Amino acid sequence: MKVLIFCATKEDQELYMQYNKGRHELVFDSDDLNENTVHRTKGFAAIVILTRCIIHETMARELENNGVLYILTRSAGFDHMDIIAIKNHHMKAANVSRYSPNAIAEYVCMTSLMAIRRMKRQMEMIQAEDFTLCQIRGRELRKLTIGIIGTGRIGYETLKIFSAFTDQVLVYDVIEREDVKEYGTYVSLDTLYQKSDLIVYHCPLTKDNARMLNDETLSKMKDGVILINPARGGLWDYQTVLKGIESKKIEAVVFDVYENEKDYLRKTKEQLTSRDEVFTQLLKHENVIYTAHSAFYTDIAIQNMIEYTVENLTEFEQKDRCQNEL
Ligand code: NAD
Repeated sequence: MKVLIFCATKEDQELYMQYNKGRHELVFDSDDLNENTVHRTKGFAAIVILTRCIIHETMARELENNGVLYILTRSAGFDHMDIIAIKNHHMKAANVSRYSPNAIAEYVCMTSLMAIRRMKRQMEMIQAEDFTLCQIRGRELRKLTIGIIGTGRIGYETLKIFSAFTDQVLVYDVIEREDVKEYGTYVSLDTLYQKSDLIVYHCPLTKDNARMLNDETLSKMKDGVILINPARGGLWDYQTVLKGIESKKIEAVVFDVYENEKDYLRKTKEQLTSRDEVFTQLLKHENVIYTAHSAFYTDIAIQNMIEYTVENLTEFEQKDRCQNEL
């Protein structure tokens, strides 16, 4: 099958060649798929994209006109794709659902410890040759109640890691799993908000839970709560987060995702064309840690993603359907 792979770095290309083993005709494009690059898809049966490539109705129509049959996202999250529009335009889509959930779980463990040990401040102080203990006294994870929202693949791994630090892990999910109960206690969302010192969001962004962190839900949380979002920017109202940091209702924040991240991701300072004021204000705070949607970015996770994307392509080619079809 002839496949156009967007957002392909040199490292990605080597891995694609390794896992493809000559099965598909792969063409690499280092650009994102967008209104300026969509014309390049003409003549390709399949395309591979990342989360910063948005498939809306107009894009789906253009892809269909160009003869594209399959759209594969090399990610677990697929809220950047309008699946109904894709189906209406007679195309099929798939994601990579199985790649290393540990990459994100370990990121959450690392950044949770960084937040409670005020690591951003400590690093800035050392850079400035300030070797005092001024305002860096930390807290211990074993004394905190952890709340995890979403106990799917990633939430479960995070739960297992945290349960090595503390036996006070509360969890909430719309569907409860038996194996989760070995490590955490299912409670209502309100109870999780009220009792947790540190809350991690591990659920997907859906129409029903957009901005589930807002003024109202923050008011239910403990004063000095620590919040971590490695899932999707749309789950949080970041204006609420900024107000919470300024008022000290929130002690610390870690986020790997942001609603307007498309304007920033994978760009250098010189390439930025616009700036989001709330984002700029947030980054100024020493108790706010932001990473540029990199929680997934480990050697194992990237290998998994590319290997399973190639498997998805092969399945579509052979059966016109795929286990990971969306
Ligand atoms: P998953 O499908 O295995 O698990 C998601 C869980 O959330 C499920 O158990 C589901 O029942 C639950 N859920 C759905 N709606 C909910 C709600 N409103 N409240 C509580 N729970 C809800 O997904 P996963 O692999 O664990 O990934 C979770 C999310 O993490 C993805 O959807 C994606 O947005 C995000 N993600 C981020 C990165 C990153 O690099 N930052 C990488 C991978 C995934």
